[in-house]
Amino acid sequence: MPKYIFICGALISGLGKGVVTSSIGKNLQIRGKKVNVIKIDPYLNIDAGTMNPYEHGETYVTADGSEIDVDFGHYERMLNLEMKGDQNITTGQVYQSVIDKERRGDFLGKTVQVIPHITDEIKRRIKSIGEREPNLDVLIIEVGGTIGDIESQPFLEAIRQVRREMVSEDSLLVFLTYILEPPNLKEQKTKPTQHAVRELQSMGLSPDIIISRGSHALSDSAREKIVMFCDVPANAVFSLPDLDTVLEAPIYLDKQGLGSTLNLMLRYEDIAADWLEYERLIERFTKTENIVQIAITGKYTELADSYISVKEAIHHAAAHNNVHAVINFVSTEEYEDNIEKIHELNKFDGILVPGGFGSRGAEGKISVIKYARETKVPFLGICYGFQLSVIEYARNESNLEKANTSEVDPNSPHPVIDLLPEQKTVDEMGGTMRLGKHKILIKTNSILEGIYKDTETGERHRHRYEVNPEYIDILERKGLSFSGRSEDETRMEALEIKDHPYFIATQFHPEFQSRPLKPSPPYFAFIKAAKQRSEQRT
Ligand code: GLN
Repeated sequence: MPKYIFICGALISGLGKGVVTSSIGKNLQIRGKKVNVIKIDPYLNIDAGTMNPYEHGETYVTADGSEIDVDFGHYERMLNLEMKGDQNITTGQVYQSVIDKERRGDFLGKTVQVIPHITDEIKRRIKSIGEREPNLDVLIIEVGGTIGDIESQPFLEAIRQVRREMVSEDSLLVFLTYILEPPNLKEQKTKPTQHAVRELQSMGLSPDIIISRGSHALSDSAREKIVMFCDVPANAVFSLPDLDTVLEAPIYLDKQGLGSTLNLMLRYEDIAADWLEYERLIERFTKTENIVQIAITGKYTELADSYISVKEAIHHAAAHNNVHAVINFVSTEEYEDNIEKIHELNKFDGILVPGGFGSRGAEGKISVIKYARETKVPFLGICYGFQLSVIEYARNESNLEKANTSEVDPNSPHPVIDLLPEQKTVDEMGGTMRLGKHKILIKTNSILEGIYKDTETGERHRHRYEVNPEYIDILERKGLSFSGRSEDETRMEALEIKDHPYFIATQFHPEFQSRPLKPSPPYFAFIKAAKQRSEQRT
């Protein structure tokens, strides 16, 4: 059985628990330990698939086709692991399985209660993930929400029970807090943290390690107060201020002794970490003066978290092209009323139209794609961006007037994008799209083949609509090439056009498999083309 590290947060949401979880994982990984992660989300949704990205950030998609919390992107990228859907435990899943068991009569007439039935189910889920992987050393369990939330109480009680059942060096509780620094006082205040720890203690839980977030590093006097009032040893308080890149977080914490403290507390041999290779990686991300300006169009322009994997994939690709990408969000709705304004896009080195749903901003995005195609700005379309590129080409190059996706216009005379056949009988929204990793066949001698350096690949998906097979020939006759297809060749997976510096769109989401050390091929080639444009400009 692995050791467990539980991570809880206090005071405010958005503390960066995902970054801390990944940083702790990285510190163990670099010392040769095998780690994995569970994220508990105390909401009633079964998964993140039906949640508004405005509220919760993007929905991340795993290879096994689960729609999962955005933090899994951080874990997979930082820890270079492939995770499974059941590693995201939600209140909805826990209650659903307990209620299903009750209906089957599994509880033999007993009154079904939060304690022990809900807590038992939580424990069962955590343990089953811990046990399924051979030789797993540490399972890190991040508890979403903040201490004091009603929703997280059954989870904290389950954690209390699990910790009670284990010897002390086999489980740790890491408490993440926020240190206030009122500008008029110019002093770091730890009182809210002290109260939060007391609240945690009232639930029978005590922190072993405290990590403080804040805009500045923790002062000595604040550190002393935390040690004194929060019942932790001096070597167990760490500071994590805002950093230039989250990649620095694992080293930043280790420089304060996090690795040693973990070794000591978990009774591991105290080996130091060799960060050399990792530091080189960070350098790639920070040490460049060349800039490319990238535009991302989209509906959720206000909340950059909705496109976090897209942004990260751009940064990975940029780092490996020795440039820094500046990401600009452009709202396409403005172009719908004022098409002249679209010429402002000329200042960008690359335009990316990401995934999306529904009609808002769709016409504006189609105009953006036309602009990118005609004025030869490097272009990458992802999922909805791919579908809208097909519509743009159908309307403007193939004489298919009013071509559309049936998602936007169910009465279009030319539904070039239509529901996947298996979707026509689906009524439920949750977990019913075409999801997860599927094989893609790549046309020989295509641009895509040059990008992937292969004639097949596997990428992750999340869509309900696809290219209508009836229009494939008409579109290809006019020069659009579907250079990526599904294994049975019925589904169009990628398109490209010639005589353009870079015009590629994919039905799949390559960003989900992009990693700091291994950028996604279509993103890498996109940034390469953007770099060329920026160099030509200067
Ligand atoms: N709305 C489109 C579909 O359902 C695209 C989805 C997406 O971009 N993820 O197929």
